[in-house]
Amino acid sequence: MTAVGIDLGTTYSAVAAVDSSGQPVLLAGADGDPVTPSVVCFDGETPIVGRAARVAAARSPHECVELVKRHIGEPSWRFETALGTAYTAEQISALILRKLARDAGAALGRPVREAVITVPAYFDDARRRATADAGRIAGLDVLRVLNEPTAAALAFGYASGRDETLLVYDLGGGTFDVTMVRVTGGVCEVLATDGDRNLGGFDFDNALMLHVAERIRAAGGPDPLDGDTAEAALRDHCEQAKRSLSALPEATVAIGSGGHVYTVDVTRPTFEELTAGLLRRTEEIVRDVLEAAGVRPGAVLLVGGSSRMPMVAAMAERVTGVRADRSVHPDQAVALGAAVQAAALSRSGPRATREPVAVLDVTSQSLGIAVRSASTGSEENSVVIPRNTPIPCQAGRRYRTLAENQREILVEVTEGDDTDLRYVTIVGSARIAIPPRPESVTIDVVMSYDEDGMIGVDVVESATGDPLGDFEIDRRANLDAREVDRMREALRTLT
Ligand code: AMP
Repeated sequence: MTAVGIDLGTTYSAVAAVDSSGQPVLLAGADGDPVTPSVVCFDGETPIVGRAARVAAARSPHECVELVKRHIGEPSWRFETALGTAYTAEQISALILRKLARDAGAALGRPVREAVITVPAYFDDARRRATADAGRIAGLDVLRVLNEPTAAALAFGYASGRDETLLVYDLGGGTFDVTMVRVTGGVCEVLATDGDRNLGGFDFDNALMLHVAERIRAAGGPDPLDGDTAEAALRDHCEQAKRSLSALPEATVAIGSGGHVYTVDVTRPTFEELTAGLLRRTEEIVRDVLEAAGVRPGAVLLVGGSSRMPMVAAMAERVTGVRADRSVHPDQAVALGAAVQAAALSRSGPRATREPVAVLDVTSQSLGIAVRSASTGSEENSVVIPRNTPIPCQAGRRYRTLAENQREILVEVTEGDDTDLRYVTIVGSARIAIPPRPESVTIDVVMSYDEDGMIGVDVVESATGDPLGDFEIDRRANLDAREVDRMREALRTLT
């Protein structure tokens, strides 16, 4: 049995393992490709995953699921097959993970049971738990859910053997994040992280698609955005053109319709102009993270397929003042780093020769409570533990009760930065009894967050220091263990 590192990407996924010489290596999929499209299609009730699904998706998009990572952890999201079976995002992700593990097992010549699976750094706990559940549904023993930029930094630190503060810029197919990581003597410490889970290569494709569609219509052609099949074909051609433009100054998109072929030439400057707003959005996040970390990076690490666009390196170098490091392959860094971590955590299989001993993380989301503001009278979010606080952590804030003789307070725990409660998630709540006093009293709300995602809340009367109550919120499990078991069994019946 061997432990693998799995980069479960929005558009593509990759698997790596540490070989007998202690080096992390990428394992090709069954098709021989180094990466596997994260696409699932259903032929009746038979799932098809990977390259064949990607081809099928262009023909019959309704029977296929793409970009499921954007929905992981959303309790109400379902994909329904043509025969009416509904799948959760965890189950769809499990089908992808199972294919990856099976292919990896075939490449290694022994079954794969243990895995480290990576997630974007800014994923909230629900999404992390859902990813781990997907792994369990796929029959894997999930050793850890690791942040993608941390994994990339591990791969870099491992390859270079250097201590460095890195800015990891990760622009994938559907997600974006920036993380500052300090690698010192095998300890990987996250200093700050931020991202946008709805920004990726897909959006760059969209910008090009709109441009090409407009040019085809202007030339008297049909609307290539009219109908799912035409749109899927346009997406495919535009994605190819986008990739070509990373290497060449010009690319041509050719769309055939009704016996006529419409061609649109796109130059790199035109493409860069069309997508300037998207790149600017990533630049703003880079600047925020640099400010939050408060240190300059010694190197910039570009990760994710979309970081191959030349404008990305140019921008990252301009903003940070350091050159982008290309020693680790952008498509492979995350899986290779995850493999290094998997080998370190696994109870079986080869060990990495230079073992990273610890990964120190930060909170990717702010934690707080819902309060009524004394000045405005309206309900708002009050952050107790800010985002980017090193884990484990504990922090408290002081509040006043609203009324005289108040007997109870409702503590609603929030996850998110915004003051407006509509833009944060309530992750749990409890009613806490308080001793009635003739006046309103001050209380301290102390929150803690540990490595396993457990949120602790303690409420203390400030004047006396008396504990009034405490509760815990377990963010580990979205699905209960029985549900995971049931889904794993159901998956076994699908070939
Ligand atoms: P990932 O999720 O990291 O595998 O990234 C996949 C994304 O990278 C997709 O949107 C691809 O279109 C994009 N991509 C891959 N290669 C290139 C390239 N050479 N130039 C621009 N984008 C690319």
